[in-house]
Amino acid sequence: MKKNNNPWERSLVELKSSSDKISLNDMLLTLLKSHDRILEVSLPLKMDDGKIKVFRGFRIQHNNILGPYKGGIRYHEQVNLDEMKALSFWMTMKNALIDVPFGGGKGGIEVDPKTLSEGELERLTRAFTRKIKDVIGPHKDVPAPDVNTNPKIMAWVASEYAKQNGKDGIAVVTGKPVDKGGSEGRKEATGMGGMYALIASLKKLRFNKKNPTVAVQGFGNVGRYIASFLQRNGFKIVAVSDSKGGIYIPDGISDIENLEKYKEAKGFLAGCYCVGSVCDISNREKRGGKDITPAELLTLPVDILIPAALESVITKINAGKIQAKIVFEMANGPTTIEADEILEKKGITVIPDILSNSGGVAVSYFEWFQNLNNKKWTKDEVFKKLKQKMEKAVDRVFETSKKFKTTLREASYILALKKIESVWENKKD
Ligand code: NAD
Repeated sequence: MKKNNNPWERSLVELKSSSDKISLNDMLLTLLKSHDRILEVSLPLKMDDGKIKVFRGFRIQHNNILGPYKGGIRYHEQVNLDEMKALSFWMTMKNALIDVPFGGGKGGIEVDPKTLSEGELERLTRAFTRKIKDVIGPHKDVPAPDVNTNPKIMAWVASEYAKQNGKDGIAVVTGKPVDKGGSEGRKEATGMGGMYALIASLKKLRFNKKNPTVAVQGFGNVGRYIASFLQRNGFKIVAVSDSKGGIYIPDGISDIENLEKYKEAKGFLAGCYCVGSVCDISNREKRGGKDITPAELLTLPVDILIPAALESVITKINAGKIQAKIVFEMANGPTTIEADEILEKKGITVIPDILSNSGGVAVSYFEWFQNLNNKKWTKDEVFKKLKQKMEKAVDRVFETSKKFKTTLREASYILALKKIESVWENKKD
């Protein structure tokens, strides 16, 4: 197998091997190997000090056989075209697997938002929306939050879209604040969906250990919620990290919610050892804790490793050192192809991103549906529907993996491709 860790090249390898297994129609395979539209925009921004800086933005639409393009908007200094191409392709696969009527898209701006003031961030978001306003829309392309974007930013997108297009922008974007048309439960959905999928997967794997230990890399929208939900459900969270560093407490971190408060206040996690409501480095010895880097977190002796930050963090360099029995991918694309092969040889089960983190887009679909149909579901209703979707997807992926004698990743791709092929067969002339 050709090894390439450029995320888009990697996606093509994954697409080829899974489509070979089901002899996917050649024309459809050719369509999926390319993107329907690649839009690159230039965003001049007047900074607070009066100077003008130019940022680069993207909206990539991979495929819309199943419905409007759908995928997040990422603000990060490493945003680039090949990353966006891969992320939009993974959205096509994920949406097909979790069975929502969307195709795949992704977008982003090459910027470190932490260097911008609130005013600059809003002006940049509105400028980006103006540049992409003709290609997005409730029935064309529906963005959502991703790394470094949040409900407030989604509300700016909706408001600017409405202003520019002179029509209601509510269903143009998901992940909005609840009082601005967002769905109950969307904020927590990726983490909650992850928890449902992990519990269902552990049953399938007959992994019965009480209080399994877990390390979570990334403490943003995805990482903090999955850590908190798992802790409430009897898992022992022993390590967490953000981009600046992390903590490892072999006896278990006492209270993820306390940690969240301290991260909000300080802006970072490192040194946050909590005793009662006091989370401080001075408690490190008392808690038997150790400071770790985000990279060290990946190789800790835990039962379950959850990468929930960025792609390509598990590579051929560190895969051999991974001690977890299960890698549960909450980030998109955290494992390179070479690493995947090493983990498989070591007998480590990888539960793939397009299954594990699909709860986010499932509830984005619920939000879009509620907006278009003027409905308002309660959080309980949302989570009940989410649980059903996640458990059904887990069932089908494990069944397919058994049937095709293949990995859970390839099984997920096979299911997604079969779904897309069945809809495409009916649509084509
Ligand atoms: P976020 O911006 O809320 O949080 C990202 C976290 O990762 C932060 O804690 C940040 O400090 C940390 N981080 C960044 N670089 C790091 C590094 N080098 N090492 C360790 N930690 C690092 O983003 P998010 O929404 O939580 O997204 C995280 C991942 O989950 C991404 O891969 C994203 O595409 C994926 N995802 C997000 C959603 C969603 O609903 N937000 C849905 C599906 C998948």
